[in-house]
Amino acid sequence: MSASLLQRSLAAVWHPCTQMKHHETLPPVPIIAGKGPWLVTEGGKQVLDGISSWWVNLFGHCNPRINAALRDQLERLEHAMLAGFTHPPAVELAERLSALTDGALGHAFYASDGASATEIALKMSFHAWRNRGLPQKNRFLCLENGYHGETVGALAVTDVALFREAYAPLVRQAETAPSPDARRAAPGESAADVARRAATALAEKLDADGERIAAFILEPLVQGAAGMAMYDPEYLRCARALCDRHRVHLICDEIAVGCGRTGTFFAHEQAGIRPDLLCLSKGISGGYLPLSVVLCHDEIFRAFYDDDMGRGFLHSHSYTGNPLACRAALATLDIFDEDDVLAANRKRAALLERLLAETFSDHPAVRHPRQRGMIAAFDVEKAPEDFSRRFFAAALEAGVLLRPIGNTVYFMPPYVMDEPELRVLFAAAQVAFDQALA
Ligand SMILES: *Cc1c(COP(=O)(O)O)cnc(C)c1O
Repeated sequence: MSASLLQRSLAAVWHPCTQMKHHETLPPVPIIAGKGPWLVTEGGKQVLDGISSWWVNLFGHCNPRINAALRDQLERLEHAMLAGFTHPPAVELAERLSALTDGALGHAFYASDGASATEIALKMSFHAWRNRGLPQKNRFLCLENGYHGETVGALAVTDVALFREAYAPLVRQAETAPSPDARRAAPGESAADVARRAATALAEKLDADGERIAAFILEPLVQGAAGMAMYDPEYLRCARALCDRHRVHLICDEIAVGCGRTGTFFAHEQAGIRPDLLCLSKGISGGYLPLSVVLCHDEIFRAFYDDDMGRGFLHSHSYTGNPLACRAALATLDIFDEDDVLAANRKRAALLERLLAETFSDHPAVRHPRQRGMIAAFDVEKAPEDFSRRFFAAALEAGVLLRPIGNTVYFMPPYVMDEPELRVLFAAAQVAFDQALA
């Protein structure tokens, strides 16, 4: 008998973010097709994608409009290097992203994944200060529990022990400022109070070290990998003002929270601020192709503009600005415009909040039910040690893809899930929750 796809996968594919030995008891699920919010297993079972396939998918799998754009692009140009050349999809995407920031962030640097975008933003910040005669600005500040990717450079600003501990000797660790996580509210304290308290601590950090700090990097409004830690926009306003005062770049990592996820196209808009550098990836290509982009304002761009080669930003990836990926992103932005997605999502988000309340808020093990835009989450008190994997397995059994982060259950559906499917998702989650706690 020939080996199954699963056996061949276990022999040949090393899976991400996985202790491979765990596959002895919970093997990976072979997926052979996708349609809308559904994934289809090799056995023909349909699985509802409740986490947008790791937060990347916005408009469903095999979306007809994105497929059509990619087919068209495939017949024109699959790839050309972006050093010494340019092409329509890269130009048009840069222009449209700039327009989405009202022209504030008018220069786009492309890469292929989120961690690379983080590295680019950090290098760009440091090098901009260096070019302006401030080479002592060579440290970074990040938020406690922040996540910005797992390459060696990005790990410096990723404050998640599980990902970083083993590699600590390799990493030049950034300083951390306390998280404004609204769950930390003392009795009587509002989320905005927590934000101001965290901002006071940030001010002290910058007072002490601002002269050596090039940039402060954060995930605006929701710290995703920390377990969907949500916080008040007031923190972003304070951070913006403090960064200005201390001549520190503010980097908004919107890799997870951008592209409408928190309700506005960019999360930072909810604070009425603009960052100096903005990282996008994940949803930007609709979940189709690896693409990331760092946007910056003119002042940073001009710090590099010179006859001297060494003052240029000499960073590159082979697939920088890949036309297919950029075209997928353009098709994704078209859908935002054509379907007025942000408005439609406001209704979807209200339903998400209602379903969270109806299904889970009164459960005795549930803590901190919370929601922002198209993200809903809650924490589980006294969860068993292997809660996350048990929940994941039970949810799959019930026909949905949900993958808790530690003791945090979260929902991050693609923007094509409508009421019947969202109800299926929450009903299955309820079943999985009781099984995982049993
Ligand atoms: C996923 C993520 C990254 C890393 O992106 P990769 O493409 O996985 O390297 C960085 N920052 C945030 C906020 C993320 O959610």
